[in-house]
Amino acid sequence: MRDVRLLPKAHLHVHLESTVRPATVRDLGGQAAPEAGFASFREFADQRAMVRGLLRTAADFRRVALEFCEDEAAQGTRYAEVTFTAAAHGERLGAPEMPLEAVLDGLAEGGARHGVECRVLLDHSRRRSAERLWRTYELARRYDAVIGIGLAGDESHPLAPFAEVFDAARDAGLRLVHHAGEFAGPGSIREALTLGHAERLGHGIRVLEDPALVAEVRERGVPLEVCPTSNVLLGIVPSFAGHPLPLLRAAGLAVTLNTDGETGLAAEYARVREVFGYGDDVLADVAVAGIDASFARPSLKDRLRSGVKEWLAA
Ligand SMILES: [Zn+2]
Repeated sequence: MRDVRLLPKAHLHVHLESTVRPATVRDLGGQAAPEAGFASFREFADQRAMVRGLLRTAADFRRVALEFCEDEAAQGTRYAEVTFTAAAHGERLGAPEMPLEAVLDGLAEGGARHGVECRVLLDHSRRRSAERLWRTYELARRYDAVIGIGLAGDESHPLAPFAEVFDAARDAGLRLVHHAGEFAGPGSIREALTLGHAERLGHGIRVLEDPALVAEVRERGVPLEVCPTSNVLLGIVPSFAGHPLPLLRAAGLAVTLNTDGETGLAAEYARVREVFGYGDDVLADVAVAGIDASFARPSLKDRLRSGVKEWLAA
C-alpha cells in the first residue's frame, strides 16, 4: 500500500473559507468547530458564516491563503483550483479588491514556498443578486490567477437569472464551474450544462437519478467534483459507505475526488481506499481524472500524470 500523501493530486473543489485552521479561527477571535462534527446543517452553516466574518484585514486573507498552501502541500496536492467568494467579502468590508488581492498574494507566495500551483475560481451564491455576479465577473477578468466563476449555495434558487453573465464569461474566456446536483436533482444539472455552460459539475452526484442525463454527461465528458466527506457532513448521503462514488465511476463518468474544504485531500483518498476497498491502481486513476479535469496548462498536466505513474511504479 503506497502513501497517498505522495500521490500527486489536483484539488479542484475546495472553498478557501472552509479550510481555515482551528488555531487560526481562535487567533482571529472565533471559536473552532466542535471536534465531533456538527449536530445539524444549521450549526454547520452558522460556523462557516462565523469564520467568514472573522476575516477582516488583508493580513487575515493573506494568512489563510498561505496556510492553505502549506496544508495542501502536506496532503500531496500539487495543483489547486481554490474557490473564493471575493465579491461578498469585498462588499462586507467596503473594499472591493482587497480580499481577492490579499488571497492572490498569499497563494503566490505560499504556492512558491510549498510547491503547490494555485488558481482561483470565484463563486457566487445563488441567493444573491445578478449585480453582484457581474462584479464577480469583473473581478475575475482583472487578475490572471483567477480562471473562472461559478454558482454555489442553495440550489433551490434557479440559475436562469444569471445566464447573461455566464454568456459573457464564456465569451471572455473564463472557465465555468457550477455547484449542481448536490442538494437539488437532475434539473439543476441540466440548467448548469445549458444556461450555465458548465465545464465541470460541483458535486453533480444526483445525476444518477436520471439515466438519460448520465449518458449525456458521460458523452459530453463533463467531470464531476465529488466530495464524499462533505456530502456526509451536510447530510446529503447517509454514510460514507453509502456514497454513490462507486456507482458514478461504474457509470463511466469522469469522477474526481475533492474535499469541499471539509477534510484533507490525502485523507479523502485514504478514506475512499478504506471504505470502497480500492487498490492503488484505482486511486491513481482517480488522481489522473482530477489532473485531466483541471484547467492546468498542458505541460503541468503531463508532469503530474508522470508523477502518478512513478507513484504507482514505486
Ligand atoms: Zn462546494
